[in-house]
Amino acid sequence: MDIRRILGLPELLDVKKVICVQPHPNDNEVGAAGTLYELGRRGCEIVYITITDGSGSGSTGEIEPEAIAAIRRAERLAAGDILGVTKHITLDYPDMGSYTEEELLAKLIPIIREEKPDLLMTVDPWMPYEAHPDHIKTGKAVASAMLFSSNEVLFPGSKPHDVPQIAFYATSHPNTFIDVSPHWDKKIASILAHKSQFDNVNWPLVKGFFDYHAVQLYSKLKQQPDAKGYAEAFKLLTSHQLHLFPSALYS
Ligand SMILES: [Zn+2]
Repeated sequence: MDIRRILGLPELLDVKKVICVQPHPNDNEVGAAGTLYELGRRGCEIVYITITDGSGSGSTGEIEPEAIAAIRRAERLAAGDILGVTKHITLDYPDMGSYTEEELLAKLIPIIREEKPDLLMTVDPWMPYEAHPDHIKTGKAVASAMLFSSNEVLFPGSKPHDVPQIAFYATSHPNTFIDVSPHWDKKIASILAHKSQFDNVNWPLVKGFFDYHAVQLYSKLKQQPDAKGYAEAFKLLTSHQLHLFPSALYS
């Protein structure tokens, strides 16, 4: 039973407005830049919400958190320009800050109601072995915000909005594969826009991993072990599948 088909929901690349919520600057690019570039090319509005300022990175060469945050802000904007991001919203929590999932939920719901996206995108907080608290808190808060943006009883204050679909990237249980071969150079360029994170001696190794992973996903997409191309993968779920829906894991 394909619940998305029953509900008549559009394919991922046919949505008109997406909110992409990333724990740190660069997560959206690593997880979904090729898909985002294609969405932008098709006229989709792309709104970024960045939860933390990325000030916990030690690879900028700076020591003061404010200086690191400023570098990462500029890099985030440069990466967004490459992909056609139409709006940036920042919550500016400190990297690895003591903010709670509930705080995030309260901030995300009014934004979702205001922006009225037809797709949310974020990290998969249920990826086995994901150990970064910013990623776990962000992914869970976005999923909860999807459930409760439409509930004005629990969260009064603005007009409810029902978001029909959510796409988790960096997922271990993908059900949607997007061919991003034509945009692979754009993806790599958008990742390298985060110079402080990637433009260093480790880059060839890191890029090699990105390439290898994307080629593997492309093989799964084409169901041919030696297929040549690059893909990104998502766990695409409806709001119905985010509560009391055990088979969501296998959808
Ligand atoms: Zn991150």
